[in-house]
Formats: sequence, structure tokens, C-alpha cells
Amino acid sequence: MPKTFSKTNPARELVFGDLWEFDPAPETADPKLKKRYDLFINGSFVPPRAEQYFATINPAHETKIADIALADASDVDVACKAAQKAFTGVWGKMPGKERGKYLYRIARLLQDHAREFAIAETLDGGKPIKESRDFDIPMAAAHFFYHAGWADKLEHLAPGRQVAPHGVVGQVIPWNFPLLMLAWKIAPALAAGNCVVLKPAETTSITALKFGEICQEAGLPNGVVNIVSGATETGAAVIQHPLTMKVAFTGSTEVGKSIMRSLAGTDKKLTMELGGKAANIVFDDAPLDQAVEGIVNGIFFNQGHVCCAGSRLLVQESIADEVLAKLKRRIAVLRVGDPMDKNTDLGAINSREQLTKITELVKSGVMEGAEKYDTGCKLPAKGFFFRPTIFTNVSMSHRIAREEIFGPVLGILTFRTPEEAVEKANNTPYGLSAGVWTDKGSRILKMSTLLKAGVVWANTYNKFDPTSPFGGYKESGFGREGGKQGLLEYLKVA
Ligand code: NAD
Repeated sequence: MPKTFSKTNPARELVFGDLWEFDPAPETADPKLKKRYDLFINGSFVPPRAEQYFATINPAHETKIADIALADASDVDVACKAAQKAFTGVWGKMPGKERGKYLYRIARLLQDHAREFAIAETLDGGKPIKESRDFDIPMAAAHFFYHAGWADKLEHLAPGRQVAPHGVVGQVIPWNFPLLMLAWKIAPALAAGNCVVLKPAETTSITALKFGEICQEAGLPNGVVNIVSGATETGAAVIQHPLTMKVAFTGSTEVGKSIMRSLAGTDKKLTMELGGKAANIVFDDAPLDQAVEGIVNGIFFNQGHVCCAGSRLLVQESIADEVLAKLKRRIAVLRVGDPMDKNTDLGAINSREQLTKITELVKSGVMEGAEKYDTGCKLPAKGFFFRPTIFTNVSMSHRIAREEIFGPVLGILTFRTPEEAVEKANNTPYGLSAGVWTDKGSRILKMSTLLKAGVVWANTYNKFDPTSPFGGYKESGFGREGGKQGLLEYLKVA
């Protein structure tokens, strides 16, 4: 058969299943962004006391979007005091039924403004618009809906015991799911009766600050939610403030460890949602086409910027060649490019710093002897992009098999027996998630007991639900988010 090539990307050969191309389908609605974002403290947007701002850029074009307020310790102090006042004056005393109404209102407002939020998330963070639109924003609203229902039923979380909120909660979140991580943190905190000071990640502050506008629109009492944007020092000021009785951190294991060290000896309650290096295990009796979709979703969803990404594929030796061939065919048709295009599968890497980290780890894979394969697709001339990449001949000692890459890079290892699969899957300092693909229910049950991971998906991957607790073991952290277990973290139980 004669070779055919892409019209928009002549370097790319059109392969099986790729016999037509998509015309550009850009999302064009107005995300209603401001040129400058101030801090959201005590129900109002206020400039930082030192009047310092930093730029947030669109990682797909490397152009500035807006100036973001940089909160220092004095701003954080004002926010924590506002939260404490709201807790003792209004929110802590309010009946759960009334608190629930505010959460429902926030959930509905997020739905009303969903399109605007999805575009803002994609512009600021680089993720494909179809993911912001179909996953991040609806899931953020779902977390508020779910927790709204709990607000007047807290006593059922610990029957026969007394539950009470902690007071002021300090929360620090990463950049990979900006609004969704905010919802994971703020929804249970408010349902439980706490007030919040939250710091978003420095590269993705916009949707968190827009969430302040939602709080205003919902008529949330002043001070119940406070958003302080900034970098490391701002985060440190939030977690160390004497009024924050509970600290919830999501981010890298390295920073998580330094926070634990800095809080040792205090009586603050702590939850840590940290990094991962998940094994996605495919047995020879698995439905292979379905498994290949799961492998692709597991590692290329959100450009691989996913703590629970299936970044290590463990495939049974007898089917390894077949799986690899199917995988190569599948990734050849992934569309990498403008995150605002509705057909894009992989958008921009979140920052130049992250792109450098991914590039460096991929180089180490080649240097250490693994075999690299990428689709060779043409990347946009500007912006931070990385091709979907897979490595074969990976050994457990390679850095790419041990370190979290947090990018669209899959390492493939093989195994012969279920015991070897468990041994290899658990041979990591992390323990956040895993996937098992097999036809046998008994094998799923056995594997999920033996795998040291907080979440084990069976014949699927990267599925989330507000009712389901999420969290890790070992260096992936402790504590849970979501479900009854996640809500209990925001309550004192006596
Ligand atoms: P990061 O640890 O660099 O930063 C996370 C947040 O902590 C940011 O807001 C940052 O400004 C802040 N921060 C940095 N240093 C701080 C300090 N000393 N004190 C207080 N705050 C500080 O992580 P990142 O690069 O933004 O995010 C990627 C990491 O997050 C990955 O390792 C990923 O696996 C992890 N993650 C985990 C989960 C989970 O649920 N387990 C979810 C999403 C992301």
C-alpha cells in the first residue's frame, strides 16, 4: 500500500485508523480573565501588602496571561485570622443543613460557569480543553455536590462518637489538576465545618482565584474560604501559621518530607498526598485492545502529569510483542498540540521547568540502556511540548523505572509469573495506585490484596469518584481524600 502523509504535519505518516485528519476545532468562548488577580481574603479581592505580583503564562504559547498576587507571611496571617473569625463567628456554629446549602450552591455555580473555568484551566495549565471540559470541571462540581450531602450527616461518619471540625485548615495544592485539587480539599473541609486558607501552585493560580468569585456569588460568609497565591514561602507560611490546626498538602514527596520535618513536634493534624510510580499490569488473558486503551489513558492523560499515572507497564512476556505493536499503532494517532483545540489528546507540558525535568529523565533512560520510541510527530514551534514516548528494555534499576517523571513517558517491563509481577510492582518507594488487566476475577482479588497501593484499578485505569477514597502508602503519603475516609480527616473524633 502506498504511504500517505499528514497534510498538516508532513513528517507524520498516516497509519492504520488514521486515514483522515481533523480540521482545527478551537474553543473560542471568552474565559473572562482579568489582567491582574489579587488575593481572596475575607470575602474580598485585596492587593498583597508588599504589592508584589508574578506573571502566569500560557505554556502552549509562552505568553503572559495575567499578573498574580504574591502573598507573603503578613498576607497569610491576615487570611488565617479572617478564617478563624469566620469559624468562631459563623461557620463553626452554623447547622450542617445550612452549610450544605452553600456547598450545593457552589456546585451549581461551578456548573453554570463550567465553560469559562475549563478554558481558563487550559490556558493557564496547558491541559487539553476536552479534559478540562469533560473531567476537571465536572469532577470539581461533583465533589461539592457529594460533600454538600454529608454536611448535615456528619454524626453518621463515626457512630456513637462525637465529631467536631478542626477550625482553620491550611491547604497547599499542585498544578496538575488546579481546580479539581482545590475541590478535593475545600469541599470536605467546608462540609465538616472548617474554614480554609488555600495556596494554589504558582503556575496555575487563575482558577483558584476565580473560585473566589464563585464564593462571592454563592454568598459564602466572609473568611470561610481564603485563597493566597504565591510560591514556596507562601505555602510554608500557610502550613506553619499557628492558627492552622490541620494541614492538607498535595505535591511532591520531596516537599512533603520537608513539610513533615518542619511540623514535627506540633499537634497539627496532617495529610499528605504525594508522588507515585504506578505499575499497570497486563496478564496474557486480558482483553488486549481494552488494555491498550487503559495503558494509553493511564500514562498520556493530562500529559502524564498525574500522580497515579500508570508510568510502568508490566506486561506478561508471552504477549509483550503483541501489546507493544498495538501500543505503537495506538499512540501514532494521538494528536499533540494546541490545548485549546477540541481534538487535541496531549496538550502542553505545564512549565519549562517540568519540560526540562522530563527531557533530563528521558536522556537518562537512553544513557542507561533502555530503548526509546516516540511517534516523531511534529510539535508546535512555540510552547512546552513533549512527544508520547515509550521505553522498552527497561530494567528495575533505571532511573526511568524508579523516579516519578510526571510526563508522557512510559517504561515497559515484562514478567513471567503473577509473583514476579507483584514483586516488580511493589519494588518502588511509592504506593499510590496500580492497574490489573486480566479475565480472571480471582486473580484481580488476589493481586489487589498483594499490591501495596492505595488504589488498584481492575480492567480500567484513572477512574475517579468523589465517593471513593484516594491516597497512598509509603512515600506516596498518608491520609485519604474523597469518600467517608477523606471527610473524616477534616474532623476531630472523640
Ligand atoms: P511541589 O511539591 O513542587 O509543589 C506543590 C505545592 O507545594 C505548590 O503549591 C508549591 O508552591 C508548594 N510548596 C513548595 N515548597 C513548599 C514548602 N516548602 N512549603 C509549603 N509549600 C510548598 O509539587 P508540584 O510539582 O506542584 O506537583 C507535582 C507533584 O504533586 C507530583 O509529585 C505529584 O505526584 C504530586 N501529586 C500528588 C497527588 C496525590 O493525590 N497523591 C495529586 C496530584 C499531584
